[in-house]
Amino acid sequence: MRKKIVAGNWKMNTTVPEGVELAKAVVAKSADVPADVKLIIATPATHLVPVAEVVKGSAVGLSAENCADKEKGAYTGEISAAMVASTGAEYTILGHSERRQYYGETDAKLVEKTKLALANNLGVILCVGETLEEREAGKHFDVVKAQTVNVLANFTAQDMKNIIIAYEPVWAIGTGKTATAEQAEEIHAYIRNVLAEQFDAQVAEDTTILYGGSCKPSNAKELFAKPDIDGGLIGGAALKADDFIAIAQSY
Ligand code: PEP
Repeated sequence: MRKKIVAGNWKMNTTVPEGVELAKAVVAKSADVPADVKLIIATPATHLVPVAEVVKGSAVGLSAENCADKEKGAYTGEISAAMVASTGAEYTILGHSERRQYYGETDAKLVEKTKLALANNLGVILCVGETLEEREAGKHFDVVKAQTVNVLANFTAQDMKNIIIAYEPVWAIGTGKTATAEQAEEIHAYIRNVLAEQFDAQVAEDTTILYGGSCKPSNAKELFAKPDIDGGLIGGAALKADDFIAIAQSY
């Protein structure tokens, strides 16, 4: 049975004190979420150590938003997977479209990042998704397949136990434009077929696939009702504890 997950991606928002307060609010309200829905918060790297203290002993998981594609050494400004793991975080997001778009995150780099994250016992939330231009050109299936396979071809069925996929159509991120539940389900089911081809039917069945892109309390229920949508990666709405919790309660 695959896990249901609602993960919040705070991006480059909140100062450390604000982030600690937000994490405390999420932890305080987490008991209101169905027990089979796992909450994860992904915070800026500066927040991981104090937020790890806040979530300690609760059911709320902690994630980084990125990690380096190198193990250690002379890479000024980078944060390694081992460093992330040493904060108490258990996951890292990788391949978010904002990193692909603004920071040159390639599939090749994502292979290295994923290897290092897994080697350091971090679960990986691997983001894939097409741009508006790609969707309008009818290339969305091919783009999502390539992003998925280019990275996952380097990993085993065993590794997949620690990899979550997040389908995030770029045109829906932060735009207020959500994919319809049907559009999202179509791609989620397709990704599951890609996993069955790449690995086997069991991996396809067991992998959690999240939807991300302007997911909010008003549309989460319809999205999460779809059989291949196992939860959400939430950006803007994760910055308000009440909205984030309301989304998780949509199950
Ligand atoms: C995201 O950045 O992962 C995201 C889904 O953002 P938003 O919910 O704000 O569209």
